Amino acid sequence: MPYAYDDQNIFAKILRGEIPNKTVLETEHSLAFEDIEPQAPVHVLVIPKGAYVSYDHFAREASDSEIVDFNRAVAEVCRMTGVHLDGGGHGFRAITNAGTHGVQEVPHYHLHILGGRQLGRMLQRA
Ligand code: AMP
Repeated sequence: MPYAYDDQNIFAKILRGEIPNKTVLETEHSLAFEDIEPQAPVHVLVIPKGAYVSYDHFAREASDSEIVDFNRAVAEVCRMTGVHLDGGGHGFRAITNAGTHGVQEVPHYHLHILGGRQLGRMLQRA
């Protein structure tokens, strides 16, 4: 079954300029902006401009230039927000949720970059 992209999702509206966002970085194929409900002092979402539902969708179907652009945008966001390790920062966590088991709220692929405090364990033990 093909990936079904809903073009009415909130990040699609952000990309079309229909709702505002606090942009951190824009590149040819990617946009990074502040999460509206930050879970840490640094909480930036990086999204591709293309219509991809999830990480696996993006990794499978995006062009090489989109994939390179996205990953370089992630690195630049880490540098800009000071969480990058080579600049003396204390690090970060990159999370992407997919589907119902991953508890994905917005069905446009996004990577959360979280940092600026000790984040604790990645998952609660069940
Ligand atoms: P996820 O559960 O991985 O799909 O996360 C969706 C994220 O999008 C949440 O952290 C929300 O706080 C964030 N979010 C929802 N609407 C907006 C918005 N308009 N601008 C920025 N972040 C948003």
